[in-house]
This record gives sequence, structure tokens and C-alpha cells, in this order.
Amino acid sequence: MYIKCWGARGSSPVSGKKFIKYGGNTSCLEIRAGDPEQVLLLDFGTGALPMGLKLTRENNKDLSVLLTHYHWDHIMGFPLFPLLFLPDSKLRFYFAPEHQDNPEKMVVKELMKPPHFPLGINEIPVRFNFYEVGSSFSIGSLRIKNIPLSHPNHGLGYRLEHNNKSLVFLTDNELGFRHPGAGSVEDYVHFCLGADLLIHDAEYFSPLEYEQVRGFGHSLVDHVIELAQMSGVKSLGLYHHNRERDDDQIDMLVARLNRESAEKYNFEIFALAQEQEIYL
Ligand SMILES: [Zn+2]
Ligand SMILES: [Zn+2]
Repeated sequence: MYIKCWGARGSSPVSGKKFIKYGGNTSCLEIRAGDPEQVLLLDFGTGALPMGLKLTRENNKDLSVLLTHYHWDHIMGFPLFPLLFLPDSKLRFYFAPEHQDNPEKMVVKELMKPPHFPLGINEIPVRFNFYEVGSSFSIGSLRIKNIPLSHPNHGLGYRLEHNNKSLVFLTDNELGFRHPGAGSVEDYVHFCLGADLLIHDAEYFSPLEYEQVRGFGHSLVDHVIELAQMSGVKSLGLYHHNRERDDDQIDMLVARLNRESAEKYNFEIFALAQEQEIYL
């Protein structure tokens, strides 16, 4: 499985010299497994904009899409997504109606209309398909499961498996506070069990910082490490970086965690960086 991070920032995009290493684009992952032509996009944050340019250069016009939820930082890359304006292009949205509103209504029709955007969806060449899925389904050779997130306005996390390798993507998931509809910590442990890579929201670095924003929908890194440890994952990628967190602060945290991990944990810990490529 090939994973490319196109955006790891949370809440809003950022830019500037202090954010070069981990990047300023918001949530977006590119996944390829089996057929390298079959591409899955996870979340339409601003990271989707450079990803779409890459697909355009490859002349790859057929894209599958999974969205975690409809907060701005996860959909704001959609209206200017390059494939929307290419003839013969196709976007296939997969959504779970039991836990998720239809993205046709929530994203496509809502964002692509004046006065938010100069063109309506009937004026652009892309074609959309919408597929309803349950809690377990396949896209190409990827086997996929989902789980409700602990987050305001709901959301879904995903587990992707291919050739005995597994990625779990839980962004915007607050482990220290159970939001309506959320799973229990035990549910998340079960969902992550033995994953090769867990990518998890780790927006807050200290208990003091977290106490000010408990219930906002994001996790304290200590809770994420507990989840990784209990579920026996092989590596942990920290994600949804706070918009005020600069490269040095993230580097210092990762260095501290890895010093401790030699004694306490048996998994690798890193922070997802924009343009980072991972092979499972
Ligand atoms: Zn977010
Ligand atoms: Zn959110």
C-alpha cells in the first residue's frame, strides 16, 4: 500500500517559514494499492489541490473519494480541485448513510454554487458517482471498514487493508471525551488492533493545554499513545497538527516521545509531514 500525505494540518491551512517541514495544507491522503492507476483520496482538505495537479499530470481522471466528515478543513480543497474541470473525469464518492449525510448534498451541491463559487455543478465537465456502503466494503483491491468518530457533528474513521498490510486513519477523534454517537475507547482499540500504521489526530501536546479545549473534538497525544499501545499497532503517525504548532515544537515532541518509547513502547512514533510518502 502506498500512502502520500498531502496535508497534515488541522482546522485551517497555515503558511510561513515556521511550517515548512510539516506543511500548511489541511487533511488529505492519497492511497494506492494493487493497481497503481486506482487512486483513493481520503479527505478533501487543501492538500487535495496539489494532489489533483499530480493526477492531472498523470492524466489519471478517475478518482475514488472517502471523506471523514464535512468540517471546512476536510472539504475546502474541493471547489478548486483540478479534476473537476477536466473533460471525461470522474469522481466516485463512497459514503455510509447510517453515519454520514450524502456528500452530493453536503459537499458537491453545497459548495459548487453561486455566490460561493462562480460555476454550478452542471457547468463543469466532471461526472460524479455516489455509492452507499455499510461498515465493511471494498474499493478495488482495498478492504475497508469504518467506525464513528468521537467528534462534534459526527464523522467516520477508516481501516484500509491490502495484502496483509493495514492503515487506520482516525483524524478529528477525541479519545478523552465521548461525543454523541462515538465509539468507546475499547471500540477504537478493537478497530486499530495490530495495524501496521495508525494515523491519529494528536492536536494537543500537554494535559494543561487539553483541559482548556476538552470537548472540542481533538485528542491529547498521551491518549493517542495509550490507544496505540493497547491496540498493538506497529507505528503511530501523529496528525491534524494544531495551526499554531511550528516545526520545532513538533520535532521536540516527537524526539521526546521516541526517547521514552525506547523504554515504554514497542512502536515507532512520528508526525505526518506534507509530501511524506509511506509504503506498507
Ligand atoms: Zn479537522
Ligand atoms: Zn472536524
